[in-house]
Amino acid sequence: MSVLVYIENTDGQLKKSAFEVASYGKDIATQLGTEAIALAIGDISSDELTKLGNYGIAKVLHVSSADLKTFVNQAYASIIASAAKQHNASIVVLSNTFSGKGLAPRIATKLEAGLVAGATSLPTVSGDSFEVTKTAFSNKAIASVTVDSSIKVITINPNSYAATETGGSAQVEAFNAPVESSDFGTIVKDIVRATDKISLPEADIVVSAGRGLKGPENWAMVEELANVLGAATACSKPVSDAGWRPHSEHVGQTGIVVSPNLYIAIGISGAIQHLAGVSSSKTIVVINKDLEAPFFKVADYGIVGDAFVIVPKLIEALKAYKG
Ligand code: FAD
Repeated sequence: MSVLVYIENTDGQLKKSAFEVASYGKDIATQLGTEAIALAIGDISSDELTKLGNYGIAKVLHVSSADLKTFVNQAYASIIASAAKQHNASIVVLSNTFSGKGLAPRIATKLEAGLVAGATSLPTVSGDSFEVTKTAFSNKAIASVTVDSSIKVITINPNSYAATETGGSAQVEAFNAPVESSDFGTIVKDIVRATDKISLPEADIVVSAGRGLKGPENWAMVEELANVLGAATACSKPVSDAGWRPHSEHVGQTGIVVSPNLYIAIGISGAIQHLAGVSSSKTIVVINKDLEAPFFKVADYGIVGDAFVIVPKLIEALKAYKG
């Protein structure tokens, strides 16, 4: 028996969420008295992969092939399921990212496994009983789910489980998974990077703004605040619908779900559909001129006032603080 964790990378660099799933998988393995094995696919150096040893992973299976340099959902799912079978994995852990969301149900089907998407904690295991909490109804509720299939597939939200350094080193092994031509139903011809900015789902700090900013011409101060803080930028849905900002920045029920350490909301009312995507942020700061704005009810810190006065002052103060 083992726990298999799927490790994501961007251009050969392991993602921050990769270390989080490694730690989560290792902690479940410790609970079950077994080992956590990692699987990575793509053009990644052994030096990069051995970093996983520091997060409790003893063995990394590496699939490297020209066909698999870029993400192909069906093929990647076949490889992960095949590795799970070969290594007798009873639990497969992935990050609840765009690719993890696509892979997890496919892997669960191939393995006839139960699937828990968006787990928020380690499972409670006692005898045959396996229970895990997960977000439900767009983050408005936490559900406690009992899984009784012998194999389980779990995804965890980025930033929801701390990556803990344990020391140790990982051994990297080539893994040759048979993939069928039918696994390549999608062919990636080219990858066009929309932005070089910090990835929104993985960002530690997110500076987000809404319709209160009046128009796209006023986003320079949002960008500047984000730059000073090393943050990603986000926006409410009407802002991206109006074309003020790209859709890739839209957070909420119908957009990206984020769980940063710090979420700064500027001129956003805090509608329930917006909160659905941001309420699991560790600290929420709200800047709004309306004291009655619903966002203040979930804010850890609230500033009542005009964003056009407050944000420049905040930037000035942060710059002075940073020297
Ligand atoms: P508004 O509601 O117009 O709020 C603007 C805020 O700015 C106000 O609170 C105002 O007091 C404040 N303000 C104005 N001027 C200033 C100033 N100078 N300084 C400071 N504050 C100021 N929305 C999302 O964001 N994400 C989603 O995923 C999403 N999904 C949806 C799905 C469905 C099915 C539906 C029906 C709606 C969805 N919405 C979503 C829309 C949501 O209901 C709200 O309409 C939207 O979040 C409001 O955006 P906003 O807060 O930017 O704008």
